[in-house]
Amino acid sequence: MDTLKRVEIKELFSEKAKERVNTQVCVKGWVRTKRGNKAVAFIALNDGSTINNIQIVADVDKFGEDLLKRITTGASLKAVGTLVESMGKGQSVEIQATEIEIYGEADVNTYPLQKKGHTMEFLRDIAHLRPRTNTFGAVLRIRHNMAYAIHKYFNDNGFFYWHSPIITASDCEGAGEMFQVTTLNLEDLPKNEEGKVDYSKDFFGESTFMTVSGQLEGELGATSIGKIYTFGPTFRAENSNTPRHLAEFWHVEPEMAFYDINDNMDLVEDFIKYLVRYALDNCKDDIEFLCKMYDNTLIDRLNFVISHEFKRLTYTEAIDILEKSNHKFEVPVSWGIDLQSEHERYLVEQHFKCPVILTDYPKEIKSFYMKQNDDGKTVRGMDVLFPQIGEIIGGSERESDYDKLLTRMKELNMNLEHYQWYLDTRRFGTVPHSGFGLGFERLLLFITGMTNIRDVIPFPRYPKNAKF
Ligand code: ATP
Ligand code: MN
Repeated sequence: MDTLKRVEIKELFSEKAKERVNTQVCVKGWVRTKRGNKAVAFIALNDGSTINNIQIVADVDKFGEDLLKRITTGASLKAVGTLVESMGKGQSVEIQATEIEIYGEADVNTYPLQKKGHTMEFLRDIAHLRPRTNTFGAVLRIRHNMAYAIHKYFNDNGFFYWHSPIITASDCEGAGEMFQVTTLNLEDLPKNEEGKVDYSKDFFGESTFMTVSGQLEGELGATSIGKIYTFGPTFRAENSNTPRHLAEFWHVEPEMAFYDINDNMDLVEDFIKYLVRYALDNCKDDIEFLCKMYDNTLIDRLNFVISHEFKRLTYTEAIDILEKSNHKFEVPVSWGIDLQSEHERYLVEQHFKCPVILTDYPKEIKSFYMKQNDDGKTVRGMDVLFPQIGEIIGGSERESDYDKLLTRMKELNMNLEHYQWYLDTRRFGTVPHSGFGLGFERLLLFITGMTNIRDVIPFPRYPKNAKF
């Protein structure tokens, strides 16, 4: 007889499963729990394809106590048996086992996930095993689905996937925040006549860094093939130990020729709504699980975002609202301050009670490349602010005027030599264009309801942690 082909557990909970009832099936996975009595054991098996476990019913007489004793939480096995409609509550089908093969045991005394209900902090210390929990299984399946949805959205809308470099010689937003990349021997650095490190001896012949953003190179894509997006890791060495910052995060950065700030806002709103809708349509079981276990307002929040227009207003209007609010903020409000998370969340959660897009920020708190407004004070930046999170996206219409851009870069004492290639986009055939950057993990915080960004990426990188 042919050996039975393995079926993924997800399929046993789909419509198609009806055809398999009363036939032999083969499943493989990891044991979540085992319970039972002298006559029969009930094994909840999960293979990662879905949050749902299939119940394996094993007669003690048939398999013997010795074999069943080895089947503990975390053990891996193959089970063959008849798929039957389940009598038990909460599951539609189960497997009446005829054959069980144990692949690997998991010692009850040393397997760290033996018991349920671990804290997120504990799980971070065993990041290599936490994907085996229900919570991280759900989060990581959602993560995959969102990555796919991002590619699908852009592809369906005529954007091209553009690969900006990860190693860069231009320090996009100030070298303080960047990780340096070097092959020089740190114990014995080559020095020049002035006693400074001689980077001409370094791998690239100059000092290089891990990129903080793919935007500047992305603009080269927009100003040549029209609409592009990047989606890759970026790196920030800022020592911010917050629940919203990672040292290595995945960055989604579309950049579009001939888009002004309004086109940019229309795109960002459509994009986010598409992603939230995609999650609700395609990650139902996982989102329902997270909603039930952690935050019962999660699904309402997601539905709210897709059914309401984002409120659009200027930074100046927002400052006015915050000043008049009589709310006590840790950082006092006045025109010119860089808005803190507490201010952003006040606007979103208390005042407007919906997602907000703020525009026209003071030029001093925004990057050099943002389009300057005629008032001489503000630039055409936009931040998208979300409940629970604050800033989820930052973007702008870009300055397309060569002279204005150059003047601003000189004011900021930027090393113009490093940016010649960037300035060339404005020197030759410059066009109005816009773009934005979405922190992929900030999106995932919103979609999953997780409260710490370290819990929505398999291997988080943060100060003093690069263990796994
Ligand atoms: P914040 O003010 O929250 O530190 P930022 O203004 O430095 O963010 P931008 O440079 O505008 O961020 O980057 C674009 C987007 O990248 C942000 O809106 C955010 O979603 C995300 N992002 C920025 N820094 C981080 C980080 N350290 N970890 C995770 N995501 C980040
Ligand atoms: Mn920002």
